[in-house]
Amino acid sequence: MGALGAGNRGGMSGIGMTSDRTRARMVERLRAEGIRDEVVLSAMTAIPRHIFVDEALAIRVYDDVPLPIGHGQTISQPWVVARMSELARNGRTLDSVLEIGTGCGYQTAVLAKVAATVYTVERIGALVNKARRHLQSLKIRNVHLAHGDGSADLGEALAVDAIIVTAGATHVPTPLLKYLKPGGRMVLPLSGSDEGERGTQRLTVIELGPAGVREQTFDAVRFVPLLPGLA
Ligand code: SAH
Repeated sequence: MGALGAGNRGGMSGIGMTSDRTRARMVERLRAEGIRDEVVLSAMTAIPRHIFVDEALAIRVYDDVPLPIGHGQTISQPWVVARMSELARNGRTLDSVLEIGTGCGYQTAVLAKVAATVYTVERIGALVNKARRHLQSLKIRNVHLAHGDGSADLGEALAVDAIIVTAGATHVPTPLLKYLKPGGRMVLPLSGSDEGERGTQRLTVIELGPAGVREQTFDAVRFVPLLPGLA
């Protein structure tokens, strides 16, 4: 019962009060698990994660697990969202960010607190609509949401400080690199051939530094695949 019990007695405000507390605990756990970026942690304190999943799953949404959002896709677990945002920021102020794989829009909402402008692309039309509803309900207005294939050229004139790919890639989506400003970073879950078969990846940062392109590998993660084409 817990959160839902409080909700039954106190309506939505009951759920809200409980979720503030559980969200603060979630953020403390992220800190204990090594997330250091206070800008990211305060964004995750501010964004109510439970509105991004079906009501029946809301009770588990502050646990550090991925959950289904329909159409065979998932909402990323809190630690993954925090870590990718931290790697994308790398202590910088972000003017603009491009996210590939909007899903339900949770990472988008976190990025909207961290960056001045967020561009986000999702290949599944029904999820674009779902994410739009979630972002509207939070009155988030600095997000440009598009139905598109983020594994290919987007056909847009964009120049962003960071790109976050939130689906597992077997190779770097090079058509996107031209959207990065000099010094910009792409963060993506990238798998080698053996990992690809197991469905796991390594968080990878591609940085366009003054001395050329630099690739760094970080934590092991598990994402749904980056797929071509629209659905
Ligand atoms: N950012 C989300 C993660 C959603 S899961 C969160 O905060 O939880 C990954 C999403 O990437 C899925 O919704 C999937 O449909 C989408 N996706 C996969 N391949 C894609 C592509 N080529 N272009 C855009 N979106 C893609």
